[in-house]
Amino acid sequence: MSQPDPDAWRRQVRQWLATVLEPASASESTAQAADLAVFHNLPEDEERLLLDRCRAYQRARFDAGYQALTLPEDKGGAGLSAAHVAVFAQEESAFAVPPSTELISVTVRLVAMAVSLFGTDEQRRDHARAFLRTDLLACQLFSEPGAGSDLAALRTRARQDGDEWVIDGQKVWTSGAQFADYGLLLARTDPDVVKQAGITAFLVPMDAPGVEVRPIRQMSGGASFNEVFLSGVRVPDRLRIGRPGQGWEVANATLAFERTASGSGNRRKGGTFPDVLALARSLGRTADPLVRQRLADLYVRAALRAATVDRVARTSAAGGRPGPEASLTKLMASELLTRTGQVAAELMGARISADTGEPGTFAWTQHLLGAPGYRLAGGTDQIQRNLIGERVLKLPPEPRVDRAPFSQLPGD
Ligand SMILES: Cc1cc2nc3c(=O)[nH]c(=O)nc-3n(C[C@H](O)[C@H](O)[C@H](O)COP(=O)(O)OP(=O)(O)OC[C@H]3O[C@@H](n4cnc5c(N)ncnc54)[C@H](O)[C@@H]3O)c2cc1C
Repeated sequence: MSQPDPDAWRRQVRQWLATVLEPASASESTAQAADLAVFHNLPEDEERLLLDRCRAYQRARFDAGYQALTLPEDKGGAGLSAAHVAVFAQEESAFAVPPSTELISVTVRLVAMAVSLFGTDEQRRDHARAFLRTDLLACQLFSEPGAGSDLAALRTRARQDGDEWVIDGQKVWTSGAQFADYGLLLARTDPDVVKQAGITAFLVPMDAPGVEVRPIRQMSGGASFNEVFLSGVRVPDRLRIGRPGQGWEVANATLAFERTASGSGNRRKGGTFPDVLALARSLGRTADPLVRQRLADLYVRAALRAATVDRVARTSAAGGRPGPEASLTKLMASELLTRTGQVAAELMGARISADTGEPGTFAWTQHLLGAPGYRLAGGTDQIQRNLIGERVLKLPPEPRVDRAPFSQLPGD
């Protein structure tokens, strides 16, 4: 398909957005706790209401042909370039887009993409489409108590039994599992090959007998992620995503989408530079030369991050999977989030730790308590640095001591 001219397409996008969304408010207001929360902290009924608002917008976007912009058309996407993604994000920022949630992002930007790229025609028709439209929601069942950074060490097992697979194991830190219809799960199907080669991906119905979801209470007060226990869970072979043993490839593609989504997404995550500036103004601190220096540093870092997101988007191949450069934007985003919280905390001093009723001050605890989690989710800062070193800068790789079949590794 020939690509529409981005400028003409921009006008079309703007007109469509105006039919489904209100314009963004231009006034500089003091950010509220909900805006400053890096991860949502809502009671279950409010989280469901938020999910419904997000889903209504995602459905409208899908129906108008603006979902999965760079996914090839034969895989269910719009087949457009990275430049079109940038145009859509720029236009969207002028409107009051409903605040998204982790689960919406995982469903649309990770699981839907993985199923679209690795699934069969039937899986694309029955599941990927529903995930892109958020008719069905899907969580990511990857991490385990003993397999986070070293994800390929996962121990959840799947054993084939006729036309079904029987799954036993435990997952952890599963965002949104309590609201998900399906989980994209990685399981070990062959322990007698090197660890990466013996993994297979499945879509697991979260209401299948043997699936138990237990929320984890976070230090920020919410419980947005969970432990998921799987005991003799039976999944039909038609819900296997990719070939047996192709799970590591599915995982890597999904994680690259996750880094891109985390690093470049325009969903608000916690406080931003304008929020810190508004805070400095409301506290009467903008004449202090040290404060001005900190604000300027933050502004420059935010601008550098935006420029890097743009550069990575423009150089990544249209229609393809994100490359290792996605680690750069993920790392810059998590560092920016951390520094934003630090500058806000410096401005407030002790006032950040007690709710004195001063507008916009105590609310920043939501940012400070959430930002560390963002340095772990989607691969820690250290892992992003390893990826940048090895795959972007082509530095010598870390020594690997786990080349033997998984079943012969210590601890198995
Ligand atoms: C908010 C949040 C949401 C999440 N949501 C999900 C989800 O929905 N689904 C899911 O499957 N998982 C999810 N996770 C889990 C996340 O992917 C893991 O926490 C992450 O991969 C790190 O794994 P770990 O916690 O086991 O830490 P570990 O891997 O045990 O790491 C501990 C420390 O060692 C460092 N380290 C480990 N290996 C190396 C190395 N080779 N080189 C240098 N340093 C190293 C790490 O950087 C870290 O500082 C979520 C996590 C968070 C915080």
